[in-house]
Order: sequence, then structure tokens, then C-alpha cells
Amino acid sequence: EAHIEQVSKAKALNAFLIETPDHALAAADAADKAKAAGEELAPLAGVPIGMKDLFCTEGVEARAASAILDGFTPTYESTVSGKLFAAGAGMLGKLNMDQFAMGSSNETSAFGNVVSPWRRNDGGNTDMSPGGSSGGSSAAVAARLCPGATGTDTGGSIRQPAAFTGISGIKPTYGRCSRWGIIAFASSLDQAGSMARDVTDCAIMLEAMAGYDPKDSTSLNAPVPNWEAGLNADLKGKRVGIPKEYRIDGTPAEINALWDQGAAWLKDAGAEIVEVSLPHTKYALPAYYIIAPAEASSNLARYDGVRYGHRELPDGAGLQDMYAETREAGFGAEVKRRIMIGTYVLSAGFYDAYYTQAQKVRTLIARDFEQVWQQCDVLLTPTAPSASFGLGEKSNDPIAMYLNDVFAVPASMAGLPAMSVPGGLDSQGLPLGLQIIGKELDEQGVLNAGLAIE
Ligand code: GLN
Repeated sequence: EAHIEQVSKAKALNAFLIETPDHALAAADAADKAKAAGEELAPLAGVPIGMKDLFCTEGVEARAASAILDGFTPTYESTVSGKLFAAGAGMLGKLNMDQFAMGSSNETSAFGNVVSPWRRNDGGNTDMSPGGSSGGSSAAVAARLCPGATGTDTGGSIRQPAAFTGISGIKPTYGRCSRWGIIAFASSLDQAGSMARDVTDCAIMLEAMAGYDPKDSTSLNAPVPNWEAGLNADLKGKRVGIPKEYRIDGTPAEINALWDQGAAWLKDAGAEIVEVSLPHTKYALPAYYIIAPAEASSNLARYDGVRYGHRELPDGAGLQDMYAETREAGFGAEVKRRIMIGTYVLSAGFYDAYYTQAQKVRTLIARDFEQVWQQCDVLLTPTAPSASFGLGEKSNDPIAMYLNDVFAVPASMAGLPAMSVPGGLDSQGLPLGLQIIGKELDEQGVLNAGLAIE
């Protein structure tokens, strides 16, 4: 009830698109009844969580924060939300996000930007971005509206908003969480994960979300470990790699200083620090901005005014006009930009020059990581090259916005588990995050390094 009240009072943050208090209350009631009956409680019994609007939840509108999905109410439950509910969690509501998860600031939502609960030391006059695309999730957890929220991460959308708002967030190995029932952006990169106040809560929540699902052809058939039980901040015998290519021009000195501090903390926890090289790092971001839009242009072809949500039907118009006008009215500017880039790089004359080339680069990036694991167990980097920025400060410059993902994208391209944990505050009083990247299926190693920093 306290959380429901907080959500209803925090309208100025615009974190929730839809509130579902009855859902959360039903889970709490079920937990109370189980407790009264002396039954063993489910791991998330009664815990009220926020659900990113990218997840389909039965009977509740799912719009991916886009006008084109207006009125689309799924008749089915995504695997991940279903698993969370089966573990006892209840849903406080659907969380705002960048439209179709395309963005790094939550400003591409069709339903208005989310405001971070954090203020900058400039008299507190600037509304700050909570990061994106999981900006409703990060703001809701940071503002204590819910103890945990789902996120999705295609190229940083869990880690960067976690860093911007001083919370923790983990993107597991690609394939750990089923994509079934999650509205698709770039299917070879999309991965769900947990966002919460600390590493332990992230571990508990992720455990409920993960697991093999035959309904997703890329789901990993691997047992889900008990990550909470495996938490251990003693890093004796572990090697932490510092990839030198992540020292890029233009990163503020305080972010580099925090990075050094993070390495010192891990050393104090018993780890050995080694400098390593990931030579193809600088090609990850350009290759991502070919592959992700290519997949998006294909995935978003299904929004045609017939199958889902919104339809524009001008008088006397034919089928082609209906498609065109529906897509013109329904998609936001950033989504249209991605569809155009994606269609271009997949077109007959340019496919080999762009798309095929980007896929080759992706292989080289994955190989860089495979080689680096001979020298270290996890990698430590900053999560983002800046702290949160003011709303509107980057929204007219897509390249500047894309650059904010520079440290997050390589792990996504390689499908590796990666997490952001809070590292400290910058001179403006804003949170900064540290990123830990791990080996395939080694979420435990990532969580343990995160715990040592926290
Ligand atoms: N900001 C990146 C993009 O716009 C990543 C988004 C995401 O991870 N969903 O594509």
C-alpha cells in the first residue's frame, strides 16, 4: 500500500504510464494468505515491481511507449513477467521508456519524458534525464516507488539508466531470459534483466526471470544457478581486466578517476588487476548502429494498422494509404530514423557494404572477448562516458545521443552478461556507474564483482 501511494504521488516523474494497483494488492494478499497458512513463501512473495512497457502482460495495454500500439491489449503473458508473477511478485504498473526501446534518455517516448528524481548542483533548476531506454524503470527504483523493475537492454538500456540514477542493473547473457512476449526491437541483441536498489536484489529478481523457454528459439538451455546463494564479495584469485581501448578522448576526468577507484576497490577485495586489450572496441558502436536499425526495420514492419493497435483510415483511401498514414502518424521521429537507416543498409545495393560488413565486425568483437578471458575473469569499465544530462540537452543531436552507449554496446554485440553498479557522485552531485562485463553464463562473477564495489 505504501508503494501504491508513492506511485500515485509521484506523477511529476512520469515514470508510470499505467498504474495497476489491484495487481500488486492481489500478490500481497496471496503472500499474506500463504504466510497465515504456514506455507513456504515464494522468493518474491508480495513484492511490488514495475514492468517496462515493452513486456506484454495479459489484459493490460502494452504500447512500447509508442502511439502506434495505442489500444493494443495482449491476451497473453510474456514468459518473463509470467515467471515473476509465479514467483509471487505483483505489478504496480507499466513503466515509461524510450519508444520501442530506441533511445538513451527516455525522451523518445510518445507519452512524454521521464524526469529523474536526481537534481544537479545548479540550483536544482534542470530536469535531468533518467537515462534510457529503461528510464521509467530507473526513475521508479531510484525514487523508491518500487523495490525492483524489469528492464531490457539491446545496447545499454539497463546499464546506462541504472548508472544515471544511482541504482544497480544487470543484463544477463543473451538467451538467459526468454524474449517471448517482449516487443521486439533488435532480436539478436534484445535481452531482459533486473533493475533494483542493490546487487542482491538484482540477483534475486534475475533468478526469477531467467530460464529456458522453448517458445524463444534463441533461449539458452542452461540451468539457472542460485545466484543469491553464490554471492561472495571476496575476489581472491580473481583477475579483473582493464581494457585500455575504453580510455577514450573526451571522457571527463572524474569518470576516469572513478574507474581507477573501482579498480582499487576490487584490488582491496582480493582481485588482481591486469591491463588488457580489446582491439576492435572502436568499431562496436558504428556496427551496432547498422545491425540494430536493420533488425528494427524488419521487426517493425508488422505495425501496419491491421494487426495491432492504432489505425489511420482516411475516407476513401486504399490499403497502401492506410499503411502509410498509420505508420506516419503512429511512429515517432527516432523510430522512423531507425527504420530508414535499417531499410537502407539492407537494400540490395548496400547490403554487402554495410550489413555484411557490420556482421563481420561483430564477430571480431566477440573474438576480442574470447581472447581476453585467457587473461582475466571479468572486465571493469565506466558504464557511460557522462553522468546524466539535462532533458533537451542532447535530444536534437542523435550522434551525441548514440555516443552515450559507447561503453555499453560491445558486451551487447558479444551477448555477454554485464552490470552497472553505483560508484559515487560527480562534482555536480550526480551518480556515476561502473560496469562489470563477464564471460558467457558467468552472471555470478559479474554479480560478485558488483558486490565488492557496492
Ligand atoms: N540507446 C541504444 C539505442 O538507442 C540502446 C537502446 C537499448 O538498449 N534498448 O539503440
